[in-house]
Amino acid sequence: MALTPDSLITERFRPNPLQLKALEKLELKTLESLLRYFPARYGTAGLAKKIGELKAGEEAIIYAQVLKSETKKAWRKKIPMAEAMVKDESGQIKIIWFHQAYLAKRAPAGVSAYFRGRVAERAGKLYLANPEITSQAITSDNKLAAGDSLFINGDNTDQVPVPVYPETRSLSSGWFHHHLKTLLEEKIHEQIIDPIPAELLKKYHLPTLATALVWVHAPRRRADAEAARKRFAFEEIFFIQLSRLRDRQEYHAHGAAKIEVATEKLSQFLSRFPFKLTGAQTRAIDEILQDFRRGEPMTRLLEGDVGSGKTAVAAATAYAVVQAGFEVGYMAPTEILARQHFENFIEFFKGLNTQVGLITGSGCYKFPAKVDRRGYTDISRTQLLKWVANGEIPILIGTHALISARGGSASGGHTVKWKNLAYVIIDEQHRFGTSQRGKLVQKNSNQAPHLLSMTATPIPRTLALTIYGDLDLSLLDELPAGRKEIITQIVPASEAERQKVYEAIRQELAAGRQVYVICPRINEPDPEKINALLVKSAKAEAKRLAEKIFPEFKIALVHSKLPARGGSASGGKPSKEEVMSEFARGAAHILVATSVVEVGVNVPNATSIIIEGAERFGLAQLHQLRGRVFRSSHQAYCYLFTETKSETSIKRLKALSQAKNGFELAELDLALRGAGLLTGERQWGISDLGMEAIKNINLVAAARTSAQAIIAIDPDFTKHPAIAKVLATRTRTLHFE
Ligand code: ADP
Ligand code: MG
Repeated sequence: MALTPDSLITERFRPNPLQLKALEKLELKTLESLLRYFPARYGTAGLAKKIGELKAGEEAIIYAQVLKSETKKAWRKKIPMAEAMVKDESGQIKIIWFHQAYLAKRAPAGVSAYFRGRVAERAGKLYLANPEITSQAITSDNKLAAGDSLFINGDNTDQVPVPVYPETRSLSSGWFHHHLKTLLEEKIHEQIIDPIPAELLKKYHLPTLATALVWVHAPRRRADAEAARKRFAFEEIFFIQLSRLRDRQEYHAHGAAKIEVATEKLSQFLSRFPFKLTGAQTRAIDEILQDFRRGEPMTRLLEGDVGSGKTAVAAATAYAVVQAGFEVGYMAPTEILARQHFENFIEFFKGLNTQVGLITGSGCYKFPAKVDRRGYTDISRTQLLKWVANGEIPILIGTHALISARGGSASGGHTVKWKNLAYVIIDEQHRFGTSQRGKLVQKNSNQAPHLLSMTATPIPRTLALTIYGDLDLSLLDELPAGRKEIITQIVPASEAERQKVYEAIRQELAAGRQVYVICPRINEPDPEKINALLVKSAKAEAKRLAEKIFPEFKIALVHSKLPARGGSASGGKPSKEEVMSEFARGAAHILVATSVVEVGVNVPNATSIIIEGAERFGLAQLHQLRGRVFRSSHQAYCYLFTETKSETSIKRLKALSQAKNGFELAELDLALRGAGLLTGERQWGISDLGMEAIKNINLVAAARTSAQAIIAIDPDFTKHPAIAKVLATRTRTLHFE
């Protein structure tokens, strides 16, 4: 049978079992997916070296003659491998190809070729690991002598760029290079229908899919590779926009409760707050109330720094909904946060006749209590669910399971039944996806609740437009007046400076305050190793602090390997929630955390934060981490420990004490460091290539307007079957939510 882009990789090639596993992990199944596996970069600068000059650890090119080559099985495991012995006039070196026995066939004894790979060392001897053999070199009869430039050399644009693919242990860059070359030669790529309409390609001067695939994998010039990458970046952002806008359209096709609130009533409610709203809060409330009147469900994002007062906006708008006779669900990412929102809401609603419920895995509560109208009381889950179902408790706060009932722990396995849910508030979730939204639609009336997502994650505008392309934006870009500024100090890595900070912290601890210590990010190409290394470094830091620095205080440790929640499944280890609540209660004085752990709680008594290896974080991320000590009425301190001597890094860190808000820092990060580091450890469901595009406001805007134009004239994509096909596959394979 003829091969098509949809054929499996295994129908054309014979990867060994380890490679097959690696391919699966990379989600490479079909020939098209392989064709869409792009190089991470192009040819490192390099001249051929003499064998006698090679050093362990370097990436090198040699020009050598093969003395002997053979295939065999690896030392212990049954990894197919090949070995060759090659020589030039300065010496000999062994070549080992793991998993790529076929390469030996391309380098039989007698042939002279260029080999490009990493110089490794084993038992004191150097060998060249998994080198690529360039086709040029094989066919050339020694025309390019050692010392000639073979690979692209920085800005020497005359040279042919050599793609370098992200490698895994069993799939080397050479493997991809070789197999992709085969697919291009067999013209498989020409069979794929270009999902980007031709008029858009023309308008934005982008290459067609077939051309771009050749240019990305086998470019003749650097400019071709760049044009191809631009096209694929556009394609990715374009499809994210299309799917977001389609989601939006689907959700907005439902009806929604029309909510009106009398102005005097709302001002009365607001006048009970112990503070005056900021201009930004007032604006956000107005925008939400306008959406409420439309009879179409709202989908809105409320973005504001930590401490910008999102909860007050949530409370005011929830009040409007309750006044109109409807119900409100308020979801938080963790139980601790849900409890905090509950307590905040009590402050806003006390003295009114509105009941507020809290549902968590460890208990259910209701405000106000019968006896003491100022306090709350615990009630049974069954009772709570009954009162929510009949509308007596119109505001229910809980974790995400409140709606999705997936985990089941928060709702005890039941889906919460509402009398008339008209407003859902979601705190700090990256995306509340289509399928979750779908569950909110009331089957009988085809009505959907208004949605408000709240986030404090500072991201630049282009990224927000992309990942939240389906949401309208309200921005809280103004902090309440009278906040104490955090004293942010850059601390160079000398022992003496460190000790000074530890002494200052000891004073804070002695005065009853608490401290966060954040361990550095780790730069390591293998994502699996990162986690293990992070956990190790956090454990070591906690031990060091406990033994050497603060033996008199109790230290808690939280890292990504801890189970999220407690219970029998956790096997004796404390869960993240347990550690966090221990710290929140004040039972531990210092919390050591890895950078991947979101320290998403509000512990007003924590006044200092130490961030180790600060230069490795994005500014926006540092800002967010620093926000953890923002809530206190005491003076707060942030210590940025850094080993960097680089002036730009120091300048970057200094920006932290000057910027007005997280958004400004996010933009600055994007400009200074690029998108990769922008969001810390968070994945947005966007590839590295797509993240590059985020830097380019014109590209993002073009992708967005193009997507909007198509949705406007062809909402079901009947006239764009190739788009429909891509969207269908994406929805199946990618779970953005
Ligand atoms: P976040 O946006 O991080 O969720 P919160 O809603 O928790 O912020 O508000 C942080 C603190 O600021 C709370 O104690 C809240 O009562 C207070 N606050 C909110 N708005 C104002 C305001 N306009 N003026 C003064 N304090 C405010
Ligand atoms: Mg909040």
